[in-house]
Amino acid sequence: MNQPMYPAYPAPSARAQELYDAMLAFVRDEVLPAEASYAAYRAERGPADHTPPPVLEELKEKARARGLWNLFLPHESGLSQLEYAPIAELSGWSPELAPEAINCAAPDTGNMELLHLVGTPAQQDRWLKPLLDGAIRSAFAMTEPAVASSDATNIETRIDRDTDEYVINGRKWWITGAADPRCAVLIVMGKTDPTAELHRQQSMVIVPADTPGVDIQRSLPVFGHHDQHGHCVVQFTDVRVPVENLLGEEGGGFAAAQMRLGPGRIHHVMRALGAGERALAMMVRRATTREAFGGPLAKQSSVRERIAESRIELDQARALCHHAAYVVDSQGNKAARHLIAEAKVAVPRAVLSVIDRAIQLHGGAGIGDSTVLSQLWAWHRAMRIFDGPDEAHLATLGRAELMRAPLFELPPTIHDQFA
Ligand SMILES: Cc1cc2nc3c(=O)[nH]c(=O)nc-3n(C[C@H](O)[C@H](O)[C@H](O)COP(=O)(O)OP(=O)(O)OC[C@H]3O[C@@H](n4cnc5c(N)ncnc54)[C@H](O)[C@@H]3O)c2cc1C
Repeated sequence: MNQPMYPAYPAPSARAQELYDAMLAFVRDEVLPAEASYAAYRAERGPADHTPPPVLEELKEKARARGLWNLFLPHESGLSQLEYAPIAELSGWSPELAPEAINCAAPDTGNMELLHLVGTPAQQDRWLKPLLDGAIRSAFAMTEPAVASSDATNIETRIDRDTDEYVINGRKWWITGAADPRCAVLIVMGKTDPTAELHRQQSMVIVPADTPGVDIQRSLPVFGHHDQHGHCVVQFTDVRVPVENLLGEEGGGFAAAQMRLGPGRIHHVMRALGAGERALAMMVRRATTREAFGGPLAKQSSVRERIAESRIELDQARALCHHAAYVVDSQGNKAARHLIAEAKVAVPRAVLSVIDRAIQLHGGAGIGDSTVLSQLWAWHRAMRIFDGPDEAHLATLGRAELMRAPLFELPPTIHDQFA
């Protein structure tokens, strides 16, 4: 069959539309009003405190009662990725509260996906169930300070077999979620066989957070901001877990990491669009309410242009994200991997440029902590590095483009006659 001229996206199911409407009301009526209480709790406790503000558990109960729970996992929710995308976007309006409130927050989502795909029934019973239930949280430990971890084959942490146990030794950092007192388990990536083929050296093991030898040393700030759940330096010293804690097969860690990161990346991107929309809404409010040089800022053509540029960039970015989601649904993660990589580069860029314009329009208010903008900027700037830095995705995309056969045999150029 000839390739289709353009894809026709399936219409959202009635249930997806209902969930979208419910999420819209939930963010408006519950999440955004709860932000002040969340911020006040954290300000009172200080940045070194990682206890979850009580409002989070309250929001989780309310979300669950509305059916807004585990929507990221098609197996649980019955939603396609394309149907989930606009709902995830709404959660991105309040990135600290809403994703967790609906049990769709990273890194738990990626870990649940992994446990769902490659976990044994016993592992699913022990860890997946409480994660799906929102009763515990989790972390994913891959990155290491000593090696360039954007190339996962560099990982040096050792996972050595000793009769019926694995012994783990290594140092990780930027381990999101590890500081949260509810974090009960870490999925750790390390090398089981450094002599094997490059992509078969790595394995993943499940490590309960209270295992002797797991030392969560400190949490790193994101441009000065300490997230509640933390991004931690974690030392593993002679950490012993039973061999049954191997996740997937020995030597399958690299492939499993790719499996985990695919959906994780596109979910980050979906949420990022919501943050961009919030920044644009803030820009519009500021432009229409702040007066300078004889009138509202919105009267200045340069301000209108910036607002218009922001709308264009967000709509372009969303189109790419939705297309990637559609291809995940219709052809699977592997077929969608280049589109996901494109979206992982393009969406944070677009969202950052919108947030940057919003900061500019807010003047000093955009820089400090009196608006959410500086924090939104910090998180989305970090997004250009986590889950693979832009350059790693661009390298993959460039390679794929160079190998792509052109649609037509190109006709000779005038230059060719001189060659
Ligand atoms: C907020 C945040 C949360 C995170 N959460 C987690 C987590 O939960 N678990 C976890 O394991 N890790 C986590 N990370 C770590 C993150 O995934 C890594 O920082 C990222 O993969 C890059 O690895 P690296 O820091 O070792 O950088 P390096 O690999 O040292 O790369 C440094 C730079 O080199 C350049 N570069 C790399 N590859 C190429 C290339 N092919 N071509 C050209 N230039 C290139 C890029 O500019 C890149 O930024 C998190 C990071 C942040 C900032």
